[in-house]
Amino acid sequence: MNEKIEWGEMNRWELDQRSEMVDTAILPIGSLEQHGPHLPLDTDSFDAGYIVEKAVGRLDPPKPPILPTIPYGVSDHHMSFPGTVTLRSDTLEDIIVDVGRSVLQHGFFKLYIYNGHGGNEAAIRTAAQKLKKETGMLVVTDSFESLSPEAEELVETDNDVHAGEFETSLVLAVRGDMLDERTIPEKEFEFPDPKMEFDHKPEFNYTWNTHDITKTGVIGDATKASKEKGEKLWEAGIERLKKRLETVIDISHRFE
Ligand SMILES: [Zn+2]
Repeated sequence: MNEKIEWGEMNRWELDQRSEMVDTAILPIGSLEQHGPHLPLDTDSFDAGYIVEKAVGRLDPPKPPILPTIPYGVSDHHMSFPGTVTLRSDTLEDIIVDVGRSVLQHGFFKLYIYNGHGGNEAAIRTAAQKLKKETGMLVVTDSFESLSPEAEELVETDNDVHAGEFETSLVLAVRGDMLDERTIPEKEFEFPDPKMEFDHKPEFNYTWNTHDITKTGVIGDATKASKEKGEKLWEAGIERLKKRLETVIDISHRFE
C-alpha cells in the first residue's frame, strides 16, 4: 500500500508514527469566491490542495502529512459578486494559529503553509509571526506567486491576476469538466488609473475592490487560456514545490 499522505485519512497511530519520522506538516489554504462567470468558486482551494498533493506524491518517504485545505479565505474585495464567502482576517489568523499549535503538540515542528489566494497573505504572515513568537516553531509560507518565472513566460496577458489566462488554464488542465467554455468572457477589465496597474509594480501597495476594475469579475484574459499552458504551469509549480519541501524537511536547526 502506498504511504498515506492526507492527515485526515490516517488513524492516530499512523499519524503518531509519521511524526517520529518527519517533522513537517503542510497546510493548504484556499478561498470560496467568485472566479468570473466561468470558473468554480472553489478554484483557489482546489488548486492549493492539488499542487500540494502532487508535490508530496513525488517526495521520497517518509512523506509529510497534508492537513485538510482551509476552504475559506479573506475575500472581502469579491463580496459584491455572488457566491463569495469571506472570513475576517482575524478569523483566518486564529484558525492558522490554532492549527499550528495543534500540529506542534503532535510532534510537527515545521508548518509549511501553501496559499492559493492573494487576499490571505496578511493573515498568514501575522499568524506565522504569532506562532514563531509563541512556540518557536518554523512556519514557512509559500503560494502560487512562486509560479511566477514560468507564468511570466507562458501567460501573455498583463495584470492577469484573477480568473484570467493563468487560472483558467490551470482549471482546463486538471478539471476541464468544471468549465463550459462558452461562458468564458471577453477581456474587459480596466484600472481606474493606469498607474495602478499591477504589472507596473508601483512602489506602493493599495487595496482595491474587484468591481472597481472589472464588471465580469475577471482581471486578466481568460480567452487566452489553454489546457496546454495549464499543464506546463502545473508541472513547473509541482516540481518547484517538491524541491522546496525537500529543502524545508532537511532543515535540522531548531530556532528557539
Ligand atoms: Zn483564484
